[in-house]
Amino acid sequence: MLLPSWTEAPAEWRWANFTPGELACRCGGRFCGGEYWHDPVFLDALQTLREAMGAPVSVNSAHRYGLWNAHVGGAPASQHKMIAADIRIACHDPGRLLAAGREAGFGSFGLYRTFIHMDLRAGRRWFGAGARSAWTGILETSGEARRWWT
Ligand SMILES: [Zn+2]
Repeated sequence: MLLPSWTEAPAEWRWANFTPGELACRCGGRFCGGEYWHDPVFLDALQTLREAMGAPVSVNSAHRYGLWNAHVGGAPASQHKMIAADIRIACHDPGRLLAAGREAGFGSFGLYRTFIHMDLRAGRRWFGAGARSAWTGILETSGEARRWWT
């Protein structure tokens, strides 16, 4: 459900570790008024992932208004124009974060150097520019992730 502003997100918000504002467009008012795509199934997966990790899950980018998506170099048909999450790897074990995302219900994953893209589409998997070599070792040492990925 597309909303022109995250401030219009449903009042009955039940995803304890996330806010609509952090999942809205991050253009800062340059292109939109904080456009937001509300999808309870997506939010359930994100919250489940957070609880599995037992530590803060930071989302770099979730919904993007179309012009902001183009501005930041997103694919024209990017899932971010609806809803997706670029999750910072930061202090997380990358293989565990990936496996937890799959177990939480995400279906598509983009592996980048500093974050993992996750969305609900089925079965898409890709490496970000220059990330394949870094991830090869991670997938090799993470049996769960490797079995699923390869
Ligand atoms: Zn915007």
